[in-house]
Amino acid sequence: REDYEVREHDVLVIGAGGAGLRAAIAAAQRGLSVGVVTKSLLGKAHTVMAEGGIAAALGNVDPDDSWEQHFVDTMKSGKFLNNWRKVEIYAKEAPAGVIELEQWGALFNRTPEGKISQRPFGGHTYRRLAHVGDRTGLEMIRTLQEKLLATEAEVYMETTVTKLFKDERGRISGALAYTRESGRFVFFKVKAVIMATGGWGRIYKVTSNSWEGTGDGVILAYDAGAELVDMEMVQFHPTGMVWPPGVRGILVTEGVRGEGGILRNANGERFMERYDPERKELSTRDVVARANYTEVQEGRGSPHGGVYLDITHLGREKILKKLPTMYEQFLKLADVDITREPMEVFPTVHYNMGGIKVEPESCASTTVPGLFAAGEVAGGLHGANRLGGNSLGDLLVFGRRAGDGAADYIEQSVHAAGVPDEEIQAEIQRVLEPLERPAREGDESPYLLQEELQEAMMEHANLMRDEDSLLKGLEKVLSIKRRLSNVKVGGTRMFNPGWHTAQDVRYLTQISEIIIRCALERREKRGAQWRLDCDELVEEYGKINFVVKKTEQGEVGIERREIPPLPEHLAALFKEEKAKV
Ligand code: FAD
Repeated sequence: REDYEVREHDVLVIGAGGAGLRAAIAAAQRGLSVGVVTKSLLGKAHTVMAEGGIAAALGNVDPDDSWEQHFVDTMKSGKFLNNWRKVEIYAKEAPAGVIELEQWGALFNRTPEGKISQRPFGGHTYRRLAHVGDRTGLEMIRTLQEKLLATEAEVYMETTVTKLFKDERGRISGALAYTRESGRFVFFKVKAVIMATGGWGRIYKVTSNSWEGTGDGVILAYDAGAELVDMEMVQFHPTGMVWPPGVRGILVTEGVRGEGGILRNANGERFMERYDPERKELSTRDVVARANYTEVQEGRGSPHGGVYLDITHLGREKILKKLPTMYEQFLKLADVDITREPMEVFPTVHYNMGGIKVEPESCASTTVPGLFAAGEVAGGLHGANRLGGNSLGDLLVFGRRAGDGAADYIEQSVHAAGVPDEEIQAEIQRVLEPLERPAREGDESPYLLQEELQEAMMEHANLMRDEDSLLKGLEKVLSIKRRLSNVKVGGTRMFNPGWHTAQDVRYLTQISEIIIRCALERREKRGAQWRLDCDELVEEYGKINFVVKKTEQGEVGIERREIPPLPEHLAALFKEEKAKV
């Protein structure tokens, strides 16, 4: 029997990125006892890495902008798979989210009249991204963190959650975690959980995501019985670094194209004129990523297998003011001065449109009572392709709603019963198994399994897919899944990266299986799901989301769920838009 610490809160927020912090602030402001856990340090996560900005129809630079146009742009980019109610709420509430952040102390770039400045981004009709140079995420996290620390919420750093518990009536009742420093276990006895663990870029070898992007939350929720949606939709950002090899995949912000960056192939041709003559470099990410990929595939790439992104014409002074991180990133990591020479770029795995299915009306609740989800781990907002800037806005809008939703739930419901010690002990034994069982023949290294998985996903579930390749990928993923029970790691519990990877690889493998199975089901080209063996925008598939739920036998259950038709007031927006053209 293992000893563990018990901590009691009303709400446990899992994740301290923008979504988690915003949710925790909302719940704390409602007078609840809030615990926030993060498997890294406060202030880390992906939100702090965000560069280009927050999309919100403030209309500061282009007064014609409106929530209606933001709604239309987001739905069109998502190829209408989006949960339209979620998009409507988002488009309406994002401006208030940005203004609130400013009131809490965020220092945005300004227009000459002193308003929050907004920059253009792909697929947005108007200049819409509120930004702080190319360090928007840093300012957002700094501001939210300060606000959170002024509340009574308690933060648990370097603490990794491994399981959610439910009572006999199916309500969330607790979560188990271990601390990375000592390997000691902590049981959180709680009435509600807000999942805010971010994305899962780490299932691929080339990604802009950090080590934290292993998708823990989506599988913790799936294992607890929650539904997932749109899991086949993985966003490949058009511009990641390609050279030197050690930095491959690091993001080159869309802000570069927003500020006028031009893409050229090895022949010097501005090739986006062929792929999207109207919007060129400011086309949506799915289109630009495929264009970059195709140019290289067809032999018009740069020496290191990328295309060129040129911003030199902006001039040194402006580049240093608007894109200081990009300037330093290329100078330090690639010895390239972007004020004098073009960057070499290629698509990199960046974001996941799919995730835990939530109800926008009831404030980000999932199908499991007491479980809420916000931020990148939640699905529905972006459909088949996310517009740049719509993630940071999502964190503010649905982070707040999830915090309020959890507070409402706690006020209105009978509280869950405690968790029996045997259940907690069983989970502790499962987590300790790769570390504490004796070595035996056939043991597997978690690092090698992870690498194998990342390579399989790169090869078989890339931004262009077909049935044959997906089936081969599935075979490889299932073989890795079978081998997970042989994972063995050495060392002690203290700061043991092998042991952490043994946990991560389980999530990564399960997510990969789900992505491939959904990609096999969606037999069409639509946004990020580009099936070379199928037609584009097949009518039948435009009307359904694939919803995933774990079956009683523990298998991946996939259901076709019909998308409800747009209500009259939203459908009318597309008619008006046609009239404008
Ligand atoms: P994250 O910020 O990823 O936070 C996740 C948190 O969950 C972390 O604290 C992590 O430690 C914790 N966690 C995970 N698993 C566990 C576990 N098992 N136990 C405990 N804690 C756990 N979007 C935009 O809209 N505009 C941009 O300009 C932009 N630029 C970007 C640039 C880069 C380089 C990257 C990588 C992304 C960018 N994005 C941008 C996307 C956006 O930043 C992310 O989608 C968003 O920040 C995700 O926020 P989140 O709060 O959902 O998760």
